[in-house]
Amino acid sequence: MGLFFYLGREFCVFYINYEEKEACTVDRNLSIQHFMQRPVWAQIDLDAAAFNIRQIRRMVGPDVAIMSVVKANAYGHGSVELARVFLEHGADRVAVACLGEAIELRQGGITGRIVILGHTDGSQAAELVNYGIDVTVFRYEDALAFSQAAVAQQRMVHVHIAVDTGMGRIGYRPDAASIAEIQQIAMLPHVQLDSVFTHFAVSDESDVASIEYTQLQYKRLQAFLDELRQVNIVPAYVHCCNSAGVVWGKSLLAGMVRPGILQYGYHPSATVQATSFCPRPVMSLRACITHIKVLEAGETVSYGRHFQAKEQRVIATLPIGYADGYPRALSNRGDVLVRGKRARQVGNICMDQCMIDVTDIPQVAVGDEVVLFGQQGDESVPLEELACCIGTIAHEILCNINRRVPRVYVQGGEVVRRLEYLVE
Ligand SMILES: *Cc1c(COP(=O)(O)O)cnc(C)c1O
Repeated sequence: MGLFFYLGREFCVFYINYEEKEACTVDRNLSIQHFMQRPVWAQIDLDAAAFNIRQIRRMVGPDVAIMSVVKANAYGHGSVELARVFLEHGADRVAVACLGEAIELRQGGITGRIVILGHTDGSQAAELVNYGIDVTVFRYEDALAFSQAAVAQQRMVHVHIAVDTGMGRIGYRPDAASIAEIQQIAMLPHVQLDSVFTHFAVSDESDVASIEYTQLQYKRLQAFLDELRQVNIVPAYVHCCNSAGVVWGKSLLAGMVRPGILQYGYHPSATVQATSFCPRPVMSLRACITHIKVLEAGETVSYGRHFQAKEQRVIATLPIGYADGYPRALSNRGDVLVRGKRARQVGNICMDQCMIDVTDIPQVAVGDEVVLFGQQGDESVPLEELACCIGTIAHEILCNINRRVPRVYVQGGEVVRRLEYLVE
Protein backbone atom coordinates (compact mmCIF):
# COMPACT_ATOMS: atom_id res chain seq x y z
CA MET A 1 0.00 0.00 0.00
CA GLY A 2 1.53 3.34 -0.98
CA LEU A 3 0.55 6.42 0.92
CA PHE A 4 1.08 9.85 -0.47
CA PHE A 5 0.63 13.06 1.42
CA TYR A 6 0.75 16.62 0.29
CA LEU A 7 1.14 18.84 3.30
CA GLY A 8 1.61 22.52 2.68
CA ARG A 9 4.93 22.87 0.93
CA GLU A 10 6.17 19.36 1.53
CA PHE A 11 5.57 16.10 -0.23
CA CYS A 12 5.81 12.98 1.84
CA VAL A 13 5.63 9.50 0.43
CA PHE A 14 5.52 6.34 2.48
CA TYR A 15 5.27 2.82 1.31
CA ILE A 16 3.78 0.76 3.99
CA ASN A 17 3.40 -2.89 3.29
CA TYR A 18 2.38 -5.08 6.15
CA GLU A 19 3.46 -8.47 4.89
CA GLU A 20 1.61 -10.49 7.43
CA LYS A 21 -1.77 -9.44 8.67
CA GLU A 22 -1.44 -9.61 12.40
CA ALA A 23 -4.30 -10.56 14.63
CA CYS A 24 -6.31 -7.38 14.75
CA THR A 25 -7.33 -6.02 18.07
CA VAL A 26 -10.84 -4.81 17.48
CA ASP A 27 -11.62 -7.73 19.78
CA ARG A 28 -13.32 -6.17 22.80
CA ASN A 29 -12.27 -8.91 25.20
CA LEU A 30 -8.63 -8.52 24.32
CA SER A 31 -8.73 -4.78 24.71
CA ILE A 32 -10.34 -5.07 28.12
CA GLN A 33 -7.31 -7.02 29.35
CA HIS A 34 -5.26 -4.05 28.25
CA PHE A 35 -6.21 -1.49 30.81
CA MET A 36 -6.85 -1.47 34.48
CA GLN A 37 -7.56 2.16 35.16
CA ARG A 38 -7.96 4.63 32.32
CA PRO A 39 -8.57 2.92 28.98
CA VAL A 40 -5.39 4.23 27.35
CA TRP A 41 -2.38 2.11 26.50
CA ALA A 42 0.60 1.74 24.19
CA GLN A 43 0.46 -1.75 22.79
CA ILE A 44 3.89 -3.23 22.17
CA ASP A 45 4.11 -6.09 19.71
CA LEU A 46 7.06 -8.18 20.88
CA ASP A 47 6.79 -10.46 17.84
CA ALA A 48 7.29 -7.42 15.59
CA ALA A 49 10.34 -6.36 17.62
CA ALA A 50 11.82 -9.87 17.34
CA PHE A 51 11.07 -9.92 13.61
CA ASN A 52 12.77 -6.55 13.03
CA ILE A 53 15.99 -7.42 14.87
CA ARG A 54 16.18 -10.80 13.15
CA GLN A 55 15.90 -9.02 9.80
CA ILE A 56 18.61 -6.56 10.81
CA ARG A 57 20.80 -9.53 11.74
CA ARG A 58 20.11 -10.98 8.29
CA MET A 59 21.00 -7.65 6.65
CA VAL A 60 24.38 -7.25 8.37
CA GLY A 61 25.32 -10.93 8.28
CA PRO A 62 26.73 -13.09 11.06
CA ASP A 63 30.11 -11.35 11.39
CA VAL A 64 29.01 -7.83 12.26
CA ALA A 65 28.17 -7.18 15.91
CA ILE A 66 24.86 -5.47 16.68
CA MET A 67 24.68 -2.89 19.44
CA SER A 68 20.97 -2.47 19.86
CA VAL A 69 20.03 1.13 20.73
CA VAL A 70 17.50 1.20 23.58
CA LYS A 71 18.01 4.76 24.84
CA ALA A 72 15.05 6.93 25.83
CA ASN A 73 13.22 3.96 27.33
CA ALA A 74 13.73 2.08 24.05
CA TYR A 75 12.20 4.96 22.09
CA GLY A 76 9.24 4.86 24.46
CA HIS A 77 8.66 1.11 24.21
CA GLY A 78 10.13 0.13 27.60
CA SER A 79 13.88 -0.45 27.68
CA VAL A 80 14.10 -3.59 29.82
CA GLU A 81 11.51 -5.51 27.81
CA LEU A 82 12.88 -4.46 24.45
CA ALA A 83 16.53 -5.01 25.40
CA ARG A 84 15.58 -8.54 26.39
CA VAL A 85 13.83 -9.22 23.07
CA PHE A 86 16.62 -7.73 20.97
CA LEU A 87 19.34 -9.64 22.84
CA GLU A 88 17.38 -12.84 22.48
CA HIS A 89 16.85 -12.41 18.74
CA GLY A 90 20.18 -11.24 17.36
CA ALA A 91 21.67 -8.25 19.21
CA ASP A 92 25.05 -8.70 20.91
CA ARG A 93 24.85 -5.78 23.32
CA VAL A 94 22.71 -2.73 24.01
CA ALA A 95 23.33 1.01 24.05
CA VAL A 96 21.75 3.86 26.00
CA ALA A 97 22.30 7.61 26.27
CA CYS A 98 23.22 8.08 29.92
CA LEU A 99 24.18 6.32 33.15
CA GLY A 100 20.67 6.38 34.62
CA GLU A 101 19.33 4.47 31.64
CA ALA A 102 22.15 1.93 31.94
CA ILE A 103 21.46 1.36 35.64
CA GLU A 104 17.75 0.92 34.91
CA LEU A 105 18.68 -1.94 32.56
CA ARG A 106 21.04 -3.57 35.08
CA GLN A 107 18.39 -3.33 37.79
CA GLY A 108 15.90 -4.78 35.32
CA GLY A 109 18.08 -7.87 34.99
CA ILE A 110 20.03 -7.17 31.79
CA THR A 111 23.39 -8.81 32.41
CA GLY A 112 25.15 -8.31 29.04
CA ARG A 113 27.25 -5.40 27.84
CA ILE A 114 25.58 -2.00 28.14
CA VAL A 115 27.23 0.95 26.41
CA ILE A 116 26.54 4.61 27.20
CA LEU A 117 26.75 6.55 23.93
CA GLY A 118 26.51 10.04 25.42
CA HIS A 119 28.85 11.84 27.80
CA THR A 120 29.45 10.46 31.29
CA ASP A 121 31.28 12.73 33.66
CA GLY A 122 34.27 11.40 35.57
CA SER A 123 32.47 12.21 38.82
CA GLN A 124 30.15 9.25 38.11
CA ALA A 125 33.03 6.81 37.78
CA ALA A 126 32.43 4.77 40.95
CA GLU A 127 28.82 4.06 40.04
CA LEU A 128 29.66 3.37 36.41
CA VAL A 129 32.30 0.80 37.33
CA ASN A 130 30.19 -0.69 40.10
CA TYR A 131 27.39 -1.46 37.65
CA GLY A 132 29.83 -2.73 35.03
CA ILE A 133 28.76 -0.29 32.32
CA ASP A 134 30.75 0.57 29.16
CA VAL A 135 31.43 4.25 28.70
CA THR A 136 32.03 6.68 25.84
CA VAL A 137 35.10 8.85 26.31
CA PHE A 138 36.37 11.95 24.54
CA ARG A 139 38.25 13.65 27.37
CA TYR A 140 41.30 12.46 29.28
CA GLU A 141 40.11 13.65 32.71
CA ASP A 142 36.98 11.50 32.49
CA ALA A 143 39.00 8.47 31.38
CA LEU A 144 41.41 9.00 34.27
CA ALA A 145 38.55 9.01 36.76
CA PHE A 146 37.09 5.81 35.22
CA SER A 147 40.52 4.18 35.43
CA GLN A 148 40.97 5.17 39.07
CA ALA A 149 37.53 3.82 39.99
CA ALA A 150 38.26 0.58 38.13
CA VAL A 151 41.56 0.19 39.96
CA ALA A 152 39.86 0.89 43.30
CA GLN A 153 37.15 -1.72 42.63
CA GLN A 154 39.55 -4.20 41.02
CA ARG A 155 37.51 -4.30 37.81
CA MET A 156 38.06 -3.40 34.16
CA VAL A 157 36.27 -0.51 32.50
CA HIS A 158 35.50 -0.77 28.78
CA VAL A 159 35.82 2.56 27.00
CA HIS A 160 34.59 3.63 23.59
CA ILE A 161 36.32 6.54 21.93
CA ALA A 162 33.93 8.92 20.16
CA VAL A 163 35.33 10.68 17.10
CA ASP A 164 33.67 13.74 15.62
CA THR A 165 34.00 13.25 11.87
CA GLY A 166 31.34 15.80 10.99
CA MET A 167 28.35 15.47 13.28
CA GLY A 168 29.62 18.36 15.40
CA ARG A 169 28.20 16.89 18.60
CA ILE A 170 30.64 14.96 20.81
CA GLY A 171 33.95 13.25 20.20
CA TYR A 172 37.61 13.83 19.47
CA ARG A 173 38.40 15.89 16.43
CA PRO A 174 40.40 13.62 14.14
CA ASP A 175 43.78 15.35 14.63
CA ALA A 176 47.25 14.73 16.06
CA ALA A 177 46.47 16.11 19.52
CA SER A 178 43.60 13.63 19.80
CA ILE A 179 45.86 10.73 18.82
CA ALA A 180 48.27 11.69 21.61
CA GLU A 181 45.47 11.88 24.17
CA ILE A 182 43.96 8.55 23.12
CA GLN A 183 47.41 7.00 23.55
CA GLN A 184 47.40 8.29 27.13
CA ILE A 185 43.95 6.81 27.71
CA ALA A 186 44.95 3.45 26.24
CA MET A 187 47.81 3.24 28.75
CA LEU A 188 45.63 3.86 31.81
CA PRO A 189 45.41 0.90 34.17
CA HIS A 190 42.23 -1.20 34.20
CA VAL A 191 41.04 0.49 31.00
CA GLN A 192 40.18 -1.60 27.97
CA LEU A 193 39.76 0.30 24.74
CA ASP A 194 36.84 -1.54 23.23
CA SER A 195 35.89 0.63 20.27
CA VAL A 196 36.41 3.76 18.25
CA PHE A 197 33.24 5.14 16.71
CA THR A 198 31.62 8.05 14.96
CA HIS A 199 28.07 9.16 14.18
CA PHE A 200 26.65 10.18 10.81
CA ALA A 201 24.87 13.50 10.34
CA VAL A 202 22.95 12.87 7.11
CA SER A 203 22.93 9.12 6.53
CA ASP A 204 19.12 9.31 6.43
CA GLU A 205 19.19 11.61 3.40
CA SER A 206 19.70 10.35 -0.12
CA ASP A 207 20.62 13.38 -2.21
CA VAL A 208 24.08 13.34 -3.78
CA ALA A 209 25.60 15.90 -1.40
CA SER A 210 24.40 13.96 1.65
CA ILE A 211 25.68 10.64 0.33
CA GLU A 212 29.05 12.26 -0.31
CA TYR A 213 29.07 13.72 3.20
CA THR A 214 28.38 10.32 4.77
CA GLN A 215 31.19 8.81 2.71
CA LEU A 216 33.48 11.66 3.77
CA GLN A 217 32.71 10.98 7.43
CA TYR A 218 33.48 7.30 6.87
CA LYS A 219 36.80 8.14 5.19
CA ARG A 220 37.76 10.47 8.02
CA LEU A 221 37.08 7.69 10.50
CA GLN A 222 39.20 5.23 8.52
CA ALA A 223 42.05 7.75 8.20
CA PHE A 224 41.93 8.34 11.94
CA LEU A 225 42.01 4.59 12.58
CA ASP A 226 45.08 4.33 10.33
CA GLU A 227 46.85 6.93 12.43
CA LEU A 228 45.89 5.11 15.63
CA ARG A 229 47.21 1.87 14.15
CA GLN A 230 50.56 3.56 13.55
CA VAL A 231 50.86 4.09 17.30
CA ASN A 232 49.72 0.52 17.93
CA ILE A 233 46.20 1.34 19.00
CA VAL A 234 43.77 -1.14 17.46
CA PRO A 235 40.33 -1.17 19.05
CA ALA A 236 38.39 -4.42 19.18
CA TYR A 237 35.51 -2.73 17.32
CA VAL A 238 34.81 0.15 14.98
CA HIS A 239 31.27 1.39 14.41
CA CYS A 240 29.47 4.23 12.71
CA CYS A 241 26.10 3.02 11.42
CA ASN A 242 22.77 4.07 12.85
CA SER A 243 19.71 2.51 11.18
CA ALA A 244 20.17 4.57 8.03
CA GLY A 245 23.81 3.52 7.82
CA VAL A 246 22.74 -0.11 8.12
CA VAL A 247 20.34 0.42 5.23
CA TRP A 248 23.15 1.85 3.05
CA GLY A 249 24.83 -1.48 3.47
CA LYS A 250 28.11 -3.30 3.56
CA SER A 251 30.44 -0.46 2.60
CA LEU A 252 29.75 1.42 5.86
CA LEU A 253 29.10 -1.35 8.36
CA ALA A 254 32.59 -1.72 9.92
CA GLY A 255 32.67 -4.36 12.67
CA MET A 256 29.61 -3.25 14.61
CA VAL A 257 26.37 -1.35 13.97
CA ARG A 258 24.03 0.69 16.18
CA PRO A 259 20.48 0.36 14.85
CA GLY A 260 17.74 2.30 16.62
CA ILE A 261 14.54 3.26 14.83
CA LEU A 262 14.62 0.32 12.38
CA GLN A 263 14.25 -2.10 15.31
CA TYR A 264 11.04 -0.37 16.33
CA GLY A 265 9.56 -0.90 12.91
CA TYR A 266 10.17 2.30 10.97
CA HIS A 267 12.30 3.10 7.97
CA PRO A 268 15.07 5.60 8.76
CA SER A 269 13.37 8.27 6.64
CA ALA A 270 11.04 8.72 3.68
CA THR A 271 13.98 8.44 1.28
CA VAL A 272 16.27 5.94 3.04
CA GLN A 273 14.26 2.75 3.36
CA ALA A 274 15.14 -0.86 4.01
CA THR A 275 14.50 -2.91 0.89
CA SER A 276 15.34 -6.41 2.11
CA PHE A 277 12.46 -6.42 4.58
CA CYS A 278 9.49 -4.38 5.63
CA PRO A 279 9.92 -3.14 9.21
CA ARG A 280 6.90 -3.96 11.37
CA PRO A 281 5.84 -1.14 13.72
CA VAL A 282 6.16 -2.34 17.30
CA MET A 283 4.05 0.27 19.10
CA SER A 284 0.47 1.27 18.55
CA LEU A 285 -1.28 3.87 20.69
CA ARG A 286 -4.78 3.01 21.79
CA ALA A 287 -7.66 4.37 23.86
CA CYS A 288 -11.34 3.59 24.32
CA ILE A 289 -14.20 6.01 23.72
CA THR A 290 -15.54 7.51 26.96
CA HIS A 291 -18.41 9.62 25.63
CA ILE A 292 -20.50 10.15 22.49
CA LYS A 293 -22.82 13.02 21.63
CA VAL A 294 -24.61 14.63 18.69
CA LEU A 295 -23.60 18.16 17.79
CA GLU A 296 -26.02 20.41 15.93
CA ALA A 297 -24.95 22.69 13.07
CA GLY A 298 -22.98 25.66 14.40
CA GLU A 299 -21.87 24.02 17.64
CA THR A 300 -18.16 23.84 18.38
CA VAL A 301 -15.62 21.48 19.95
CA SER A 302 -12.80 22.14 22.43
CA TYR A 303 -10.60 25.08 23.40
CA GLY A 304 -10.46 27.90 20.89
CA ARG A 305 -13.57 26.55 19.11
CA HIS A 306 -11.45 25.56 16.12
CA PHE A 307 -13.91 22.91 14.99
CA GLN A 308 -17.46 23.92 14.14
CA ALA A 309 -20.10 21.46 12.95
CA LYS A 310 -21.41 22.50 9.53
CA GLU A 311 -24.30 20.09 9.93
CA GLN A 312 -25.30 17.55 12.54
CA ARG A 313 -22.18 15.55 13.60
CA VAL A 314 -21.56 12.65 15.95
CA ILE A 315 -18.58 13.43 18.15
CA ALA A 316 -16.81 10.94 20.41
CA THR A 317 -14.41 11.78 23.23
CA LEU A 318 -11.16 9.93 23.98
CA PRO A 319 -9.42 10.02 27.37
CA ILE A 320 -6.01 10.78 25.87
CA GLY A 321 -4.32 14.11 25.21
CA TYR A 322 -1.04 15.88 24.75
CA ALA A 323 0.04 15.10 28.33
CA ASP A 324 0.17 11.48 27.21
CA GLY A 325 2.34 12.40 24.25
CA TYR A 326 -0.35 12.63 21.58
CA PRO A 327 0.97 15.83 20.00
CA ARG A 328 -1.18 18.93 20.34
CA ALA A 329 0.15 20.07 16.97
CA LEU A 330 -2.03 17.33 15.42
CA SER A 331 -5.19 19.19 16.46
CA ASN A 332 -7.79 19.05 13.66
CA ARG A 333 -5.28 17.25 11.43
CA GLY A 334 -4.77 13.63 12.45
CA ASP A 335 -6.89 10.60 11.66
CA VAL A 336 -7.59 7.78 14.10
CA LEU A 337 -9.09 4.32 13.55
CA VAL A 338 -12.46 3.21 14.91
CA ARG A 339 -14.06 -0.08 13.91
CA GLY A 340 -11.35 -0.46 11.28
CA LYS A 341 -12.16 2.87 9.61
CA ARG A 342 -10.49 6.26 9.61
CA ALA A 343 -12.10 9.08 11.61
CA ARG A 344 -10.91 12.66 11.89
CA GLN A 345 -9.63 14.10 15.14
CA VAL A 346 -11.49 17.39 15.62
CA GLY A 347 -10.95 20.48 17.75
CA ASN A 348 -7.90 21.26 19.83
CA ILE A 349 -6.27 18.29 21.51
CA CYS A 350 -6.51 18.94 25.27
CA MET A 351 -4.04 17.91 27.94
CA ASP A 352 -5.93 14.73 28.85
CA GLN A 353 -8.66 14.29 26.25
CA CYS A 354 -9.45 14.81 22.60
CA MET A 355 -12.45 14.47 20.31
CA ILE A 356 -13.06 12.60 17.06
CA ASP A 357 -15.78 12.82 14.42
CA VAL A 358 -17.46 9.43 14.07
CA THR A 359 -20.48 10.57 12.05
CA ASP A 360 -19.62 8.29 9.13
CA ILE A 361 -18.90 5.19 11.18
CA PRO A 362 -22.05 3.28 12.05
CA GLN A 363 -22.72 1.86 15.49
CA VAL A 364 -19.81 3.45 17.30
CA ALA A 365 -20.28 2.91 21.04
CA VAL A 366 -18.76 4.04 24.30
CA GLY A 367 -15.95 1.59 25.10
CA ASP A 368 -14.94 1.04 21.46
CA GLU A 369 -11.22 0.78 20.95
CA VAL A 370 -9.64 3.63 18.98
CA VAL A 371 -6.16 3.41 17.43
CA LEU A 372 -4.33 6.75 17.38
CA PHE A 373 -1.45 5.28 15.40
CA GLY A 374 -0.93 1.73 14.29
CA GLN A 375 -3.16 -0.85 12.70
CA GLN A 376 -6.74 -1.90 13.30
CA GLY A 377 -8.35 -4.48 11.06
CA ASP A 378 -7.14 -3.86 7.52
CA GLU A 379 -6.61 -0.14 8.00
CA SER A 380 -3.66 1.68 9.49
CA VAL A 381 -2.65 5.15 10.56
CA PRO A 382 1.12 4.99 10.18
CA LEU A 383 3.11 6.92 12.74
CA GLU A 384 5.13 8.41 9.87
CA GLU A 385 1.94 10.01 8.57
CA LEU A 386 1.42 11.83 11.88
CA ALA A 387 5.10 12.76 12.18
CA CYS A 388 5.17 14.13 8.65
CA CYS A 389 1.95 16.05 9.25
CA ILE A 390 3.48 18.04 12.12
CA GLY A 391 6.99 18.30 10.70
CA THR A 392 8.78 15.90 13.02
CA ILE A 393 10.12 12.36 12.91
CA ALA A 394 8.66 9.12 14.27
CA HIS A 395 11.43 8.96 16.92
CA GLU A 396 10.13 12.08 18.64
CA ILE A 397 6.50 11.03 18.93
CA LEU A 398 7.53 7.58 20.23
CA CYS A 399 9.82 8.96 22.95
CA ASN A 400 7.15 11.40 24.05
CA ILE A 401 4.60 8.71 24.86
CA ASN A 402 5.04 9.11 28.56
CA ARG A 403 4.67 7.47 31.93
CA ARG A 404 0.96 8.04 32.21
CA VAL A 405 0.46 5.55 29.39
CA PRO A 406 0.83 1.90 30.46
CA ARG A 407 2.80 -0.34 28.10
CA VAL A 408 1.00 -3.55 27.25
CA TYR A 409 3.22 -6.26 25.78
CA VAL A 410 1.63 -8.65 23.34
CA GLN A 411 3.21 -11.85 22.08
CA GLY A 412 1.49 -14.49 19.97
CA GLY A 413 -1.76 -12.50 20.28
CA GLU A 414 -1.68 -12.69 24.09
CA VAL A 415 -0.95 -10.02 26.65
CA VAL A 416 2.24 -11.27 28.28
CA ARG A 417 3.09 -8.29 30.46
CA ARG A 418 1.74 -4.92 31.51
CA LEU A 419 3.93 -2.08 32.61
CA GLU A 420 2.20 0.52 34.73
CA TYR A 421 4.47 3.39 35.61
CA LEU A 422 2.16 5.23 38.01
CA VAL A 423 0.72 2.38 40.05
CA GLU A 424 2.02 -1.10 40.65
C1 LIG B 1 20.35 7.33 18.70
C2 LIG B 1 21.63 6.86 18.16
C3 LIG B 1 21.67 5.78 17.26
C4 LIG B 1 20.42 5.14 16.67
O1 LIG B 1 19.87 6.00 15.70
P1 LIG B 1 18.65 5.57 14.74
O2 LIG B 1 18.60 6.65 13.73
O3 LIG B 1 17.45 5.52 15.59
O4 LIG B 1 19.00 4.25 14.17
C5 LIG B 1 22.92 5.31 16.89
N1 LIG B 1 24.04 5.87 17.35
C6 LIG B 1 24.05 6.93 18.19
C7 LIG B 1 25.34 7.51 18.64
C8 LIG B 1 22.85 7.46 18.61
O5 LIG B 1 22.84 8.53 19.42
